[in-house]
Amino acid sequence: MSAHEVVIVGGGLEGMSIAAALTRRGVRDVLVLERRTIGSGGTGKSSGIVRCHYGVPLLAAMAWEGVRFFEDTPGLGFRRTGYVVGVGPENEAALRANVAAQAVLGVEVSLIGHDDVHAMWPGLETKDFAAFAYEPRGGHGDAYRTCQHFAEAARRGGARILQHTPVAALVTGGDRVIGVRLADGRRVGAGTVVVAAGAWSTALVSPAGVDLPVRAIREPIVIADPGRALGEVPVFSDLVSLQYVRTEPGGRLLIGNSDLTDPEPADPDRYLNRADGPHLERAAGRFGSRFPGLPDVSFVTSYAGCYDVTPDFNPIIGPAGPDGLFVAAGFSGHGFKISPAVGRMAAEMITGAALPDFRLSRFAEGRPLTSAHPYAGAGEMR
Ligand SMILES: Cc1cc2nc3c(=O)[nH]c(=O)nc-3n(C[C@H](O)[C@H](O)[C@H](O)COP(=O)(O)OP(=O)(O)OC[C@H]3O[C@@H](n4cnc5c(N)ncnc54)[C@H](O)[C@@H]3O)c2cc1C
Repeated sequence: MSAHEVVIVGGGLEGMSIAAALTRRGVRDVLVLERRTIGSGGTGKSSGIVRCHYGVPLLAAMAWEGVRFFEDTPGLGFRRTGYVVGVGPENEAALRANVAAQAVLGVEVSLIGHDDVHAMWPGLETKDFAAFAYEPRGGHGDAYRTCQHFAEAARRGGARILQHTPVAALVTGGDRVIGVRLADGRRVGAGTVVVAAGAWSTALVSPAGVDLPVRAIREPIVIADPGRALGEVPVFSDLVSLQYVRTEPGGRLLIGNSDLTDPEPADPDRYLNRADGPHLERAAGRFGSRFPGLPDVSFVTSYAGCYDVTPDFNPIIGPAGPDGLFVAAGFSGHGFKISPAVGRMAAEMITGAALPDFRLSRFAEGRPLTSAHPYAGAGEMR
């Protein structure tokens, strides 16, 4: 049986970011096992939005670390378009409090008025919004390219990455996880096994007695032709109609859903890879009433991905269950922007630091990680 200091299961953004960060910290004997190809899971479906508008301060700080990483790292497809979030009257106080808390962390963010938003976003109906926040350094990047970037950095640091290598099970010895068994029967030993397998993580760790509250939900995305050239507009997060909109290279619009009150459970290996009729109808209604100034919009295509969500919509990052096992999963639709920080933090923890905020045990303790200023009707924003 071959053996490595760290074996990472999952070659998505988080597994690759952790691999790269471990090698930066001098842990070079790292093996990443990916069942298909790098970035082929949730990462390949990501909308890639970068914003720091979170009510959990640590998450906002991690996203801010992400902003600086994306700005400083060429070739990741990051476009600094700015980010606008708008709320209705019931959430105005929460928005103001969140903006104040984010500013304390150093995030570049301010409140802006209706006229400012009109000037940035043609065709937008704003009268049912009470307040807006603006992050000039927000925008969107390319999750797949970012994942490849981490993979390349990990390889340069000495890590090995095996694609088309599914892990069938964790291997335990005594009270510890001591490695993994591959689908072809081979065993690989490990000082630490990191499970960063996105929506597939729950099934992998369950036989080791770890009850991971991570479930897959389906999230359709619609691509639209706006009917006229819009130029560079900021990412717009509409917390009244519960949708988000960003531009695609080439001028099309990517329209996502922010209504997670009635999520659609999914099997991450078998789900409908497009928006269905009811979703398209809802999306058309919401978009049409929010952008009456874009009457010639047409939906061009759609696809769907799976979020790996936890009960508090925050990730699990840390040791879990038997010694030797470390989990980084449950990124709940936020994992792109925080991926640089996730790699750094996980590598720090694997090499000895205690960073308990994202511990698995918070759920059993009844202490979920929640926003100090949650949004009524959009609490999953976190
Ligand atoms: C539709 C959509 C839109 C999103 N939009 C945004 C956004 O705008 N901004 C943002 O910050 N985040 C966004 N996210 C979230 C972000 O993209 C994810 O949190 C992130 O990509 C997850 O990375 P991951 O490495 O945890 O998981 P994945 O990318 O799913 O990687 C897990 C990998 O593990 C592999 N694997 C699974 N089982 C095994 C096994 N047994 N053996 C070996 N390998 C295995 C899989 O093949 C996969 O490649 C979005 C996600 C989706 C789905």
